[in-house]
Amino acid sequence: MVLKGFKLRLYPNEAQQLAINQNFGFNRFIWNQMLGMLIKRYENSPETKLLSAFDLNNLLPTLKQEYPWLKQAESTSLQCTNADLIGAYKKFFKGHAGFPRFKSRKYPKQSYQCKMGIKFTDRTHLKLSKIGVVRFRGGQQALGKVKSVAIRLTATGKYFASVLIDTDITKLPKTGLSVGIDLGVSDLMITSTGVKYPTIRFDKRLAKKKHYWEKRLARRRLQAKQEIACDHHNHVPEPRELADFKNYVKARRMVAQYNEKIANQRYDYLSKLTKALVEQFDVVKMEDLKTKNLLKNHKLARAIANQAWREIRRQLTYKCAFYGKQLVTVSPYKTSQLCSSCGFDDGKHPLEIRSWTCPDCHTQHDRDINAARNILQGS
Ligand SMILES: [Zn+2]
Repeated sequence: MVLKGFKLRLYPNEAQQLAINQNFGFNRFIWNQMLGMLIKRYENSPETKLLSAFDLNNLLPTLKQEYPWLKQAESTSLQCTNADLIGAYKKFFKGHAGFPRFKSRKYPKQSYQCKMGIKFTDRTHLKLSKIGVVRFRGGQQALGKVKSVAIRLTATGKYFASVLIDTDITKLPKTGLSVGIDLGVSDLMITSTGVKYPTIRFDKRLAKKKHYWEKRLARRRLQAKQEIACDHHNHVPEPRELADFKNYVKARRMVAQYNEKIANQRYDYLSKLTKALVEQFDVVKMEDLKTKNLLKNHKLARAIANQAWREIRRQLTYKCAFYGKQLVTVSPYKTSQLCSSCGFDDGKHPLEIRSWTCPDCHTQHDRDINAARNILQGS
């Protein structure tokens, strides 16, 4: 059995939207209450040990007594929120992330998770506890026990469910073939079989339209902030907030829409690419990303490439597990200077050298394909 995740677009009716939004609210409330409590606790005695998610769960019944409307919440969702909060706290203490923030009703993205009462009733309907049977589209028919689902509202106003199921491995036919892949910047992926997959800058394709709205967003944010400052200055009883400015909200939504489009295009491209690999090969070998100096990038192209590499690795990891194939990470050695045919070390080849001939066995090499072949042979 393996865990498999996939995303569905949900089409909740009005009553269901209301119920989902309520659950966002319940979970936001719990998050904020627990976060406030953790902060106070820390202020009172910085030495005390951090509570666990389990400790927080034990506080839920008391909170439900104090705030009876919380009983309408999907109860496993509140536990998930506690676990998320403790996770965020731990990340902060390890220095991996900023301090957890309070969540606002006005933040355009909302989500909650739950673990119980989730079932596919047919090919287009998903039953969610406390919400009802919701129509969905997308995603293959997945058989298996649903472990959890995260319901999300995007900044563009769409509802999605990220479903995690426990399912049987769907073995793809064995091909008897292995491949090495080299990851790069101008060519995203080069295989030892000689195929180059270019980097496609989906962000550039939409840059003009996105920029048009980004400029408007910046201007409208500034205007709104000035008016808010006036409200405060004039002691208006209920000063406006950013979310009260319709023009600003519209621009924010348009920028989010372009970001979503770019992200979807990237994801589709990488999905097709990794699917092709697991279909064609039984073993996929790639470089350990640690050796690729992920942190030393200041250029956008480089940052985008690094993100794509991580996503390729993530997708290959679960696709190989799911389809019964094998992903091997190797720590390659001198991939661009060793001849993949005879092993001769030709010394450093500066980046501008795209091809070279091995002085020992006279094989002509494409720099990147040779590197991919060395990765295939690496261990
Ligand atoms: Zn050679």
